[in-house]
Amino acid sequence: MTQYIFITGGVASSLGKGLTSAALGALLQSRGFNVKIKKLDPYLNVDPGTMNPFQHGEVFVTDDGAETDLDLGHYERFTNVPSSINDNITTGQIYKRIISKERKGDYLGRTVQIIPHVTDEIKEFILSNNDNIDFCLCEIGGTVGDIEGLPFFEAIRQLSNELKKNMTCFLHLTLVPYISAAGEVKTKPTQHSVKELRSIGIQPDILVCRCDREISKSDIRKISVFCNVNEDSVIQAIDVDTIYAVPKDLKTNGLDVAVLNALGKNSFPKSNLRKWNKVVERIRKPIGEVTIGVVGKYLDLNDAYKSLFEALTHGGISNNVKVKIKNIDTDKLEKDKNKTVFNGISGILVPGGFGKRGSEGKIFASKYARENKIPFFGICFGMQMAVVDVARNLLEYKSASSSEFGKTDTPVIGLLTEWIKDEEIQKRDLQSEYGGTMRLGSYPAILKKGSKVRNIYGSKKVNERHRHRYEVNMSFIDDLERVGLRFVGMSPDGLLPEIVELKNHPWFIGVQFHPELKSRPFNPHPLFSSFIKASVKKSKISGKVKK
Ligand code: GLN
Repeated sequence: MTQYIFITGGVASSLGKGLTSAALGALLQSRGFNVKIKKLDPYLNVDPGTMNPFQHGEVFVTDDGAETDLDLGHYERFTNVPSSINDNITTGQIYKRIISKERKGDYLGRTVQIIPHVTDEIKEFILSNNDNIDFCLCEIGGTVGDIEGLPFFEAIRQLSNELKKNMTCFLHLTLVPYISAAGEVKTKPTQHSVKELRSIGIQPDILVCRCDREISKSDIRKISVFCNVNEDSVIQAIDVDTIYAVPKDLKTNGLDVAVLNALGKNSFPKSNLRKWNKVVERIRKPIGEVTIGVVGKYLDLNDAYKSLFEALTHGGISNNVKVKIKNIDTDKLEKDKNKTVFNGISGILVPGGFGKRGSEGKIFASKYARENKIPFFGICFGMQMAVVDVARNLLEYKSASSSEFGKTDTPVIGLLTEWIKDEEIQKRDLQSEYGGTMRLGSYPAILKKGSKVRNIYGSKKVNERHRHRYEVNMSFIDDLERVGLRFVGMSPDGLLPEIVELKNHPWFIGVQFHPELKSRPFNPHPLFSSFIKASVKKSKISGKVKK
């Protein structure tokens, strides 16, 4: 029987609820249990697909093509359990379902209300698709006290009452701030947050307290007394140098045992954190370092490229080097006449992106990497901009562009109007709705014999996750091949270009998909490992690696 762990947060956002959930999932797995983590987002958007990355951070895409919250990326990276469309729900989705049922007459004339109709939908989401799962972790987005969150808190409260004893437990994440004027940490915000939670009928079983320093025994006791939580279940979570040290730290502080005890389990297998220790050891003791320039336009917010930065770190793990990231703002790059921003960089990565703004900087980054033989990795939009660069500068098609930027007479990148998904034809045009209509999720690509990518992957067919509306225009492929841009990965029907690589360059690869979404700390993505390897080689040539 599946047991449920509800994870809520208080005091402030961004305390790391997603990471805590992911790390707890990993800890339970390390004792041999099967886990699944779900995210419940109280906002009204149907999914984060149409939100600005500045607002919401990265949109994480699942194999089955759902555009989801970035926390699902943490869950996958920590547990290696692939997420699906059934693992993330928003208020928008719930209301969409309810309104459609109401229009169909499914409610048989009853008044449709938040309790029970909205809460029932939430409960159904939590309880469904949990076959063979020992522990289902459900993270509620936002913080306690948010108006949008109330139906979600109410639903989990009801569930704890409806399911048998010991089938559910509540974990609440709070902040214990250090106040420098007083010279001490303060427990009051945690007390208030728990008070808020209790006012809606939820008594937490476990408190995870984020802090930047050790919380004294007496403060733990104080939190325990005022919040009515067992002292052993007040777990401190001190800031760490790498997120991959979080499982070990939380285990040392007793988190998984506290959770298991709260769920009525007093004997359970010992945990084995060997693979995590290895990852942390590699991160903490690199034998060198390499600097990668990431050319993007949402760089002020790290969350916008979450999986990408993690995948670069993973590439570093497999090469035993620390990957330093230099953020290169495309707008600034366009204005920087001498291109000094590239000084000290051993690899250039142009990530996914949307829209005309900043695109010239990305096209230039491709040209610079191409001409200076710097390893170049173009991901999705990054690949498209590399194709524009080659068309403009090697083919001399000066007006080459993407139709994403408006009308052009040389659309080397054009709107994707037809493709096959699960044996069905998908059709789109300029009038199509925006939300959920891109080419989304996992699609296969066949890799050409003798190509660099086939060698890197060590396989002739790969499956990677996509999220794009535009695609290289097939009518320009022969021309582009002629000047050295090889189309080495294609969809199985040969109609959609998936991967390009440049001849006579140490490492210049563009991919139409998002390999970063499938990289794991203990199983780095081969393209990232290879890109970092090539960058290390480049930096050695220019004498930058410290041994
Ligand atoms: N804007 C481009 C497209 O829609 C690239 C998308 C991306 O980088 N994810 O095709």
